[in-house]
Amino acid sequence: MQSFDIIVIGAGPAGSCAAYWASQQGLSVALLDKATFPRHKLCGGLFTERSRHTYQDIFGRDFDMSRAVTRTQIAFWHDNTELAVLNGIPPLHLTMRLELDNTLYKNAIAAGVNDFTGRALSELSDTTVTFRDGERLTAKIIIGADGVNSVVARTLFGKAFDTETIGFGLEIEASTDEQNPLEHPLRIDFGSAAWGYGWSFPKQHSTTVGVGGLRAPNPDMKAHFSKYLRDLGLDPDTTRFKGHHLPFGDFRKIPGRRNVLLAGDAAGLVDPITGEGIALAMKSGQLAAQAAVDALAQNAADTALARYQFSLRPIHKSLKIARMLRRIIFAPRWQVAFVATFRKSGTVRMQYMRLLAGEVEYPELGRSVLRRLPRYVLNAFRR
Ligand SMILES: Cc1cc2nc3c(=O)[nH]c(=O)nc-3n(C[C@H](O)[C@H](O)[C@H](O)COP(=O)(O)OP(=O)(O)OC[C@H]3O[C@@H](n4cnc5c(N)ncnc54)[C@H](O)[C@@H]3O)c2cc1C
Repeated sequence: MQSFDIIVIGAGPAGSCAAYWASQQGLSVALLDKATFPRHKLCGGLFTERSRHTYQDIFGRDFDMSRAVTRTQIAFWHDNTELAVLNGIPPLHLTMRLELDNTLYKNAIAAGVNDFTGRALSELSDTTVTFRDGERLTAKIIIGADGVNSVVARTLFGKAFDTETIGFGLEIEASTDEQNPLEHPLRIDFGSAAWGYGWSFPKQHSTTVGVGGLRAPNPDMKAHFSKYLRDLGLDPDTTRFKGHHLPFGDFRKIPGRRNVLLAGDAAGLVDPITGEGIALAMKSGQLAAQAAVDALAQNAADTALARYQFSLRPIHKSLKIARMLRRIIFAPRWQVAFVATFRKSGTVRMQYMRLLAGEVEYPELGRSVLRRLPRYVLNAFRR
């Protein structure tokens, strides 16, 4: 049985960043994933400036943007009617997750992390992992960064999430024959799904098109997606849809137990309005690793959770505010007022844009919304 300071389960953005950060601080780290990298992950691949800054903070250098597409124009639609086209917006970078995640994983391995990817787990305890072939690894601290269906969370709490309270997204990758990405703007469609939206993200060689929203109010997400594809002039019958859950606002208040920490989607750290999860996955991976480093420095692995929870406070606070604000944007009664305000108000459009681009944080946005709320309520009830 090999021993490490930390075992990180899942080598997506959360896990690779956690492994890299811990290894850089001198800990011995094993990074596990059932997939072999490079691997696909269903995602729009929108890499915001928030993600970019987080990447710079962790790796001490910029993410190589040469294969990303950067847009400074966006079109907003509702019910197949154009609401606004904004030019000169804060840059939005569109990446392919296959490439982004492979870069993160390779950064971790290059930093000396021990590679156990491409191997399925069969058993898990607080300190030990057993692979299907019987090999066992042990560590003082385990970081579960294994996504929305987290086996680590299921081991700790019986289930990862209640699928009724989280979100679900469907996507296709439209080829250049179906839609030339160069000719189309980056597009967001409010109302394409209940408590969610549709997106069309042009990349270098394809366009990622999807709809996502809370799962419970969208029992037939496929019908929403078919309609959205038709609205975009795409044929829903020629492509197979792919779907994936996302913990759209249902974060774990206690992200782990003693020496076992959950990061990224496994901890529910996804923005409840925009669905952005890459930045918070990377950040929480870094914070979980730092909590592990600090706990082990005191020879007190069991204090890792308390340390991690403390460092997550600002993120949890933001997610709570975002959950309140999303009612104003997505609740059916309010969405009419939101769309009308969005159509008329350049300030609201810019605020939303800054939010999407990762330039504004929720406490600041919450204060600004509170100031405008009386007028907004009036508008909502006039309709
Ligand atoms: C349709 C959709 C569109 C999205 N679009 C965007 C977007 O445009 N921008 C954005 O910022 N966010 C987006 N998100 C959210 C984003 O994809 C996630 O928040 C992000 O991937 C979370 O990273 P993670 O490292 O926590 O988990 P993941 O990226 O899911 O990585 C988890 C890793 O764990 C591994 N794993 C799982 N189970 C096991 C196991 N039993 N044993 C070993 N390994 C395991 C997996 O193979 C995977 O490599 C989107 C999500 C969806 C569903």
